Amino acid sequence: MTQPRATTKPGAIDRRLIERCLNDRSGGLGFPPVLERSYESYRREYRARVMSSTIVPSLLIYNLFLVIDYLLLPSTFAIALFCHLLVVTPLLLVADLVVRQRPGLWVRECLSASMPLAMAAQLLFIFYLNRGVDNAEHYQYAISGILTYANVNQKPPFRFALVSTLILVAGYCSVLVAAHTDFPTLLVGMSLVSGVGYVTLVANYRMERDARYAFLRRTHDRLEYEISEHAATHDPLTGLANRHEFDRRSARLQADRRLSNTSIGVLMLDVDNFKAYNDHFGHPAGDACLKRIAAAISAQLRNDDDLAVRYGGEEFLVLLFDTTLADTAVIAERLRHTIETFRMPHVQSHTHVTLSIGAAAGRLADQPLAELITRADAALYDAKRAGRNQVSPCVEAAHDASANAPR
Ligand code: GH3
Ligand code: MG
Ligand code: MG
Repeated sequence: MTQPRATTKPGAIDRRLIERCLNDRSGGLGFPPVLERSYESYRREYRARVMSSTIVPSLLIYNLFLVIDYLLLPSTFAIALFCHLLVVTPLLLVADLVVRQRPGLWVRECLSASMPLAMAAQLLFIFYLNRGVDNAEHYQYAISGILTYANVNQKPPFRFALVSTLILVAGYCSVLVAAHTDFPTLLVGMSLVSGVGYVTLVANYRMERDARYAFLRRTHDRLEYEISEHAATHDPLTGLANRHEFDRRSARLQADRRLSNTSIGVLMLDVDNFKAYNDHFGHPAGDACLKRIAAAISAQLRNDDDLAVRYGGEEFLVLLFDTTLADTAVIAERLRHTIETFRMPHVQSHTHVTLSIGAAAGRLADQPLAELITRADAALYDAKRAGRNQVSPCVEAAHDASANAPR
């Protein structure tokens, strides 16, 4: 059965929301929920790709650090080798596998954060085992590389970067204190990790802000395009397709050879005695009446293949895809009846606003669309001559078909 169509212009609400976000100078990164969801689905693929593409280089560089273990802290090299190859590397590979399945935001970002945190835990564990050993002081500075990897290479959302940085810095400072690190080394280590944490967080914040701004601009441009496309192809008063859109769609219909054996129904609709209506009630009331009629026509269309067009001032044209003449007449009669039941007051001989409708249908293989339109137009004038408020030529067929199989 037919579905009512949305008559609002596309993007009318979203665009205002996006413009509000674009003009927001508060420095916050969050969007209103509806936009946040859209941003997440826009970012999902990209984030998964970033994580997957960094996994191999990250593992290579991370495992190359085993050379440093070997040179600086040979006594714990075997343990380091075990942690690298049998704990952290498999964990990163499993995380990568899960991320490739495109999980939700929380799973993805927690996995993303777990990678550098696992590396840091391994580093601090080996450092702790070597507490008091001179070379260990140099070993633990590798934490700054892990922080950079976490916040810059992995590009997590800022709030996740902030939490994992705090965990990492707190864990690092705790281990240094627990290892009774001497004061100068403790001071250098804490300053370094805090400084690198701060700098990488600022970089992360700016990257996210720029990504969000680019998303807003892109979405805004797309909506602008859709709105101007809609304005160019639709009648501003009724929201129906305009003649330009009709020409485009009918050219496409004619050109598609697969449709040449499909029956196309054509309706020409004209509001009866509308000049008198306008003269009596005024132009704004006439406009409101046309809008209401257009909405009723639109509501009778089944899908995107059917097309309702504002063909002239108070004239409408409807193309019905894959519809026989009998069904075309049924729909015409249903439309005529709907407008009659609105009982919009009129003047002159008619008490209510009514429609006269001309119907025609046929295969494009038998005649061009223009000929079908000419036939529907001729039928419309028959309906006018026969006294208006009626469908021509197939009123009887309409009633028969309506009793049997309305679509
Ligand atoms: P008929 O039953 O023979 O069709 O008579 P009619 O009065 O409807 O036909 P006519 O062509 O004489 O008048 C059409 C009227 O439609 C005249 C015009 O003012 C009105 N009209 C056309 N476009 C608009 C519009 O956008 N808004 C309003 N309010 N009126 C319109
Ligand atoms: Mg008219
Ligand atoms: Mg007319």
